[in-house]
Amino acid sequence: MNSARALVTGGAGFLGSHLCDALLGEGYAVVAADNLLTGRLSNLEHLRNESRFEFLEQDVCAAIQCGAVNYVFHFASPASPVDYAAHGIETLRVGSFGTFEALEVAKKHSASFMMASTSECYGDPLEHPQRETYWGHVNPIGPRSVYDEAKRFSEAVTMAYHRYHKVDTRILRIFNTYGPRMQINDGRVIPNFMWQALRGQNLTVYGDGSQTRSFCYVSDEVDGIVRLSKSSEQEPVNIGNPTEFTILDCAKRVVAVSGSASKIQFEPLPQDDPKQRRPDISKARRLLGWEPKVDLETGLKLSLEYFQKAVQERSGALR
Ligand code: UDP
Repeated sequence: MNSARALVTGGAGFLGSHLCDALLGEGYAVVAADNLLTGRLSNLEHLRNESRFEFLEQDVCAAIQCGAVNYVFHFASPASPVDYAAHGIETLRVGSFGTFEALEVAKKHSASFMMASTSECYGDPLEHPQRETYWGHVNPIGPRSVYDEAKRFSEAVTMAYHRYHKVDTRILRIFNTYGPRMQINDGRVIPNFMWQALRGQNLTVYGDGSQTRSFCYVSDEVDGIVRLSKSSEQEPVNIGNPTEFTILDCAKRVVAVSGSASKIQFEPLPQDDPKQRRPDISKARRLLGWEPKVDLETGLKLSLEYFQKAVQERSGALR
């Protein structure tokens, strides 16, 4: 059994909380730090009696009071376009000051470090699919820049701590991940469509729905993260599902899986919405032996019960 201790910043978030579960499963003692801006304690409720788990409610832009750790997973940040638009300054702060703080913890304790980066580093990409070597096409002053540039800066800080302070770092580039524990009203496409489909409302497809995304089920994403944490790769690695869907196709699949009679309603496309997104995962395949296993239809079915419950709870709260 592993006797190591890991810090997960953003541990009360959708992905952070699944990562906490996986690390506990790997034998780590886990401390999750989160200021609950977009994270939720309900995501950690099942760990209430887990003696190897600890929760620290704190903003990771201030010195992180976690004690000695062997691994730092820096996952704190608003992550949905609606959340980071609502909390633009906080998003920039956690990507910059928060990354410094998390790296300082790693440096102080000679811990390994992983930064949760994003496909948003590629912006509205001119190279398709996106390989890790692509530098991206990002509008530095557009509405998405608070997230995109924060994450790009965070990657730069991570590489600097690696180069100047010899911190053992990893950079994970996450592509559209979904599954249970997503907040039903975080504005991302799958929770939005589930909310609408399960309430019999029209599904709001932005633009003509021809823009593409490649959706990774959360168990696949977490498997990739754990494998990356055990590898020695210091440069960015894409972890995402390479099967690409148009958003219109995604809407139809949500309608089918939820058994809804909802129709599609077209609405204006938000500014700078990337037209296409698909990871090239050759590097993850080669270095980590990683391959996503859950296709979109299966993942939607696996998530349905969670979304039904989330819709019931939120509908009740709204009444
Ligand atoms: N989208 C949509 N309807 C919605 C929510 C999102 O058509 O109700 C589109 C959005 O414009 C984007 C894609 O779905 O093209 C994915 O959006 P999401 O917010 O999930 O994340 P992104 O990949 O843009 O960061």
